[in-house]
Amino acid sequence: MKLVTCCATNWGNKAPAIGIDLGTTYSCIAVWQNNRVEIIANDQGNRTTPSCVAFTANERLVGDAAKNQTDMNPTNTVFAIKRLIGRRFSDASVQSDIRQWPFKVVAGPNDRPKIVVSYRGEEKQFYAEEISSMILVKIKEVAEAYLDCTVKNAVITVPAYFNDSQRRSTKDAGDIAGLSVMRIMDEPTAAAVAYGFDKISKNTKGKNVLIFDLGGGTFDVALMSIRHGKFEVKATAGDTHLGGEDFDDRLVDHCVREFKSKYKKDLTENVRALRRLRTACERAKKTMSFSTQATIEVDYLYDGIDFSTRISQARFEELNIDLFARCIDLIEKCLSDAKIEKSRVDTVVLVGGSTRIPKVQQLLHDFFEGKELCKGINPDEAVAYGAAVQAAKLNGQGDREVQELVFVDVTPLSLGVETRGGRMTVVVPRNTPIPAKNQYVLTTVKDNQTRMPLAIYEGERAETTYNNLLGKFVLLGIDPAPKNVTKIDVCFEINADGILNVSAQDRSNGHKNKIRINNKEGRLGAEDIQKMMKDSEKYKAEDEEFRRRHDAWNSLEKYSYQMRSILRDNNITKMLSFSTKVNIEDAIGKTISWVEQNPLPQACESELKMNELKSICKPIDKEVNKK
Ligand code: AMP
Repeated sequence: MKLVTCCATNWGNKAPAIGIDLGTTYSCIAVWQNNRVEIIANDQGNRTTPSCVAFTANERLVGDAAKNQTDMNPTNTVFAIKRLIGRRFSDASVQSDIRQWPFKVVAGPNDRPKIVVSYRGEEKQFYAEEISSMILVKIKEVAEAYLDCTVKNAVITVPAYFNDSQRRSTKDAGDIAGLSVMRIMDEPTAAAVAYGFDKISKNTKGKNVLIFDLGGGTFDVALMSIRHGKFEVKATAGDTHLGGEDFDDRLVDHCVREFKSKYKKDLTENVRALRRLRTACERAKKTMSFSTQATIEVDYLYDGIDFSTRISQARFEELNIDLFARCIDLIEKCLSDAKIEKSRVDTVVLVGGSTRIPKVQQLLHDFFEGKELCKGINPDEAVAYGAAVQAAKLNGQGDREVQELVFVDVTPLSLGVETRGGRMTVVVPRNTPIPAKNQYVLTTVKDNQTRMPLAIYEGERAETTYNNLLGKFVLLGIDPAPKNVTKIDVCFEINADGILNVSAQDRSNGHKNKIRINNKEGRLGAEDIQKMMKDSEKYKAEDEEFRRRHDAWNSLEKYSYQMRSILRDNNITKMLSFSTKVNIEDAIGKTISWVEQNPLPQACESELKMNELKSICKPIDKEVNKK
């Protein structure tokens, strides 16, 4: 990777800001350039990069390189990290994922999941934020190589249904990666921009657009109103745990059952076999989007058995029908929250790789009574596209049309405070437009009460035990008074990233306390982030060092064989004296055995050997370029 420190002239003094779709399975990067959005291809030429990080005995791999070696190294290849970020280890969904994953996850401090891998012969543990940051560092490098400029500012998208802790953790991952996260943007809003941006000037009447985003790990639905460049979310619904990976799981389970009944063997005991089967199942699933059947075939799957089975599209649909139906239920919930009849939806926009599944499209078509589905935008790139437009706007780039865009997101879950009897008292109802600031007045419940503990929750249940605890704090210094007299103003403030701050103030004496939610428990502290930023630099330096060693070693080997082939060409060497020839031959032979006996030496050792060999081979070296 080229080291870039200064900006190319076409950016003037302002560094560009990028839009990042940090997906469960794939991530995508885009930038506003030449008055339009450009999708940035990675070093492999791919327009999306697998959200995958692998650790080996020698190196750390990110993206395509990591995904391509998954089958060989399943326990140290980490994927679907978006399903862990901002969650607790004891969450039911985390527990069910862990059972499926070949890599190990353990409970860390404060019930936070930690991923355990073997890296360079040592056991290492990482938080989800650190793994995500490794993907983001890769993305940053890809963007920098493309733009020939240092990139810092970025907009990162998250599912609209991500809660406070998931949003904060995503932002932390960006900080660790050395990015300055200008905004955490909702994925449906970003997708709506991809759909509606070029129609703004023509669209005077306004449109109700339903964004249906079914990706690898998450499902998001949003009802948006687009009018005169204002993209307003009316309501959102979704499931942070519903997507292509679940459909793959169903196919894997199906094959495991078939294998058991045919061969009386349990595939689930073998992590590598499961991983290879999963890859084959995902391939078959994709085939079935264009064909009525597919073959799932894996040689030497388990105990030397070659596994092969045919699956029909109809059987695939049957295996997943409850999951597909759940998507439709969530659309109904979203429409009812937005108080809009389905007949008033003008367009249904399909986003996310899993919307290619014909049954999903058919169910949508039926639900909307024949309405055309908009497949005109690239489902893999739409979210990054919208993020790039938002990034340009926040960065003061782009034309007037970009600068005049307005995005209005909403809170995905109700936010509230616990009151007497474990009751959830909602302060900010779900689907409130953000940024938002709402107040609620509490009073003391005992005579002479001088302190008031507050517990902040998110969720829709009436009892707080069933909702998600975001944080607790205590307001001290309340002046003694009879109960119900002292008034405490509790203020919930949600910023444009959807992140919440809560404060409480005694009205009579002005004493105040506030918390940034989850500072201590579910979330990383500033010190943790600093440490992880340092680690991230360290890992990057280690990767670069490994590549240097590898390259130097490889070049030495290549050069030695090249010289040997030249030496064996009589036409070239007939001019040399016998002793020179023997001398060169001997030096080449020794270098080749050194290369074989010293896998991956220090780069400087290979470089030294290279210099030695080059000086001996000088008489024939000039022939290299002619060969
Ligand atoms: P995304 O997160 O939007 O990149 O979506 C990735 C998911 O889409 C993965 O689970 C893929 O297996 C799935 N996917 C991609 N192409 C297809 C296809 N042709 N048919 C079914 N699923 C697909």
